[in-house]
Parts: sequence; C-alpha cells; structure tokens
Amino acid sequence: TIYHGDIVFYNMEKHKHEFGDRDMIGTIYQQIMTDFSGFSLYYQPIVDARNNRIIGAEALIRWQDDKYGFVSPDRFIPFIEQNACIFELGNWVIWQALQDATEIRRIIPDFIINVNIAAPQLERPDFHYEVLNALHDTGYPPQNLCLELTERCRELDTDFLRGEIEFFRSNGIRVAMDDFGTGNASLQLILELPLDEIKIDRSFVQNIQNHPMNQIIVSAIADGARTIHADICIEGIEDQALELYLQQYHPTYYQGYYYSKPVAKGDFLSLISS
Ligand code: C2E
Ligand code: CA
Ligand code: CA
Ligand code: CA
Repeated sequence: TIYHGDIVFYNMEKHKHEFGDRDMIGTIYQQIMTDFSGFSLYYQPIVDARNNRIIGAEALIRWQDDKYGFVSPDRFIPFIEQNACIFELGNWVIWQALQDATEIRRIIPDFIINVNIAAPQLERPDFHYEVLNALHDTGYPPQNLCLELTERCRELDTDFLRGEIEFFRSNGIRVAMDDFGTGNASLQLILELPLDEIKIDRSFVQNIQNHPMNQIIVSAIADGARTIHADICIEGIEDQALELYLQQYHPTYYQGYYYSKPVAKGDFLSLISS
C-alpha cells in the first residue's frame, strides 16, 4: 500500500488545482483500501423506446462523508481513474451491482444491469477473471450484464479494445460504448468494434432542436450503430418533447430524468413494484 500511497500523493499534487481538497481524495483512497464505507450505488432506469417500460438500469457510484457531504462522481472518478485503485473500486462496483441486480431480477426477470468501466480496468490482466468470478459467485446470468466502456477506453489501441470486447461477448456479456461523440474518437471507430450498444451522450441531445450540427452528429452515430447492428441508447431525456423529437433516430433505449433520476436500490425496487 505504500506504493499506492506514493501514486496518490504524486497525483494529488499535480491535480490540486482541479480537486482543491487533497484530504478528500486521501479519505476516498483510504476507504477504497479498507471498507468502501462512504460508497453506495444508485440506479437509473433505462427504458425500452417502444413502450417506455423499464428494461434495465445503469449503476452510478455515489460517495458521501460526514466531513465532505455528498460528492459527485465527476469530482473523484477522473482522479481515481489515474490511480491504480480504480481497479479495486471497479471490482467493488461490479460485485455490488450484480448482488443488487439479482434482487431486481426477482421483479423484472429480463432486467439488464449496466456497469461503467474505466480504461485502466481493461488494461489489468486480471480484470477478465474478476468479472467472470463475480458472475460465477453471484450466479448472475452474463447476458443480463452490460459493460459500458467509458470515454477514455476509446484512447486504447483499437486491436486491444476489439480483443477485450470479443472476450466479454464470447462469454455472453453485453458491451456498450458510453458517451459516444465525446472525446476525439472518430465515427470510424464504432464501425470497427463488435459492440452490442452505443450510448449517445446527453450533450448532443439536450439542445438538439436548435443545433443542426448536433442533429448531424446524432444522425451519423445512429446510422453507424445500425450498420454494425448495435442497439442505440440516447441519454439525457428530460422531457416528453425531447423524447418525441428523438424518435426520428429510432433509438432502442432512452435514459434520463424524464423517466427517473438515479435512485438508491430500495427506491428502485419501489419504483418497479408500483
Ligand atoms: P455517465 O456514465 O455518462 O452517467 C450518466 C450521468 O448523467 C449520471 O451522472 C446521471 O445522473 C446523469 N444524468 C442522467 N440522466 C440525466 C438527465 O436527464 N439530465 C442530466 N442533466 N443528467 C442526467 P452521475 O451519476 O453524476 O455520474 C457522472 C459520471 O461519473 C458518469 O457519467 C460516469 O462517467 C462516472 N461514473 C459514475 N459511476 C461510475 C462507476 O461506477 N465507474 C466509473 N468508472 N465511472 C462512473
Ligand atoms: Ca455510463
Ligand atoms: Ca453516459
Ligand atoms: Ca457522461
């Protein structure tokens, strides 16, 4: 752990201006190395675009602490991603999500749980083992798990990325490309990868009616997804007007505050039981 500690302090110095509070990152890091005490997972519904029925959810990490209060993942994930302990945190997320999803599947048998995966997790040789082991130990069906490859994964070598996607898919696990369109990956990339699903980032859709360029981008991503027979999930739907407008792109799934904000497991179970 002394080795990890060195990395933490190096990065904290480097990113002090971004995160402001090195003590906070230190506390988060301590918890990852001990009991994950401040962490929890929230679940945001993903709906079938044909009938708005909940068919799955995305697991989203939360961190809360007496001293720092509620801290958004946007404030610590980018930092943790640069540190070896993203692997431990990512494994905790997979285990927790599969356990919770096992309960949810008692109400929605076909339920699919989406879990965010950061680039350094893919780069770890023991990641395959961790995922398969979590599935095995929870008895959770691989086809009801979807790994969302987050933005930085697109910076990995394309052949390596393809190999990773093929590995998970050959084990029955779904693979989605998250937030496509953000970062500097080309549209060509999705045509080269055997993905099950493409998620279109909310930054392209939230003002789409007034942005011809965003209309072109969303249309191109949707066409690319169809070419490789991948499902399309559009994120960031906040009202019915936007949902109606987006129908022209024929998405498979929608996700956004209009259906529900991310909620704790108990509230998610109430939501789908009512
Ligand atoms: P993301 O993967 O793009 O997740 C979607 C984010 O958009 C979530 O923010 C969600 O609460 C928010 N969102 C969903 N619908 C709407 C909407 O209609 N309007 C608006 N304004 N926002 C909406 P959240 O939960 O704060 O997570 C932020 C990011 O943190 C995630 O973005 C993801 O990149 C990262 N993250 C969260 N959990 C994990 C995790 O377990 N592992 C990793 N590696 N990253 C995670
Ligand atoms: Ca995601
Ligand atoms: Ca996303
Ligand atoms: Ca995002």
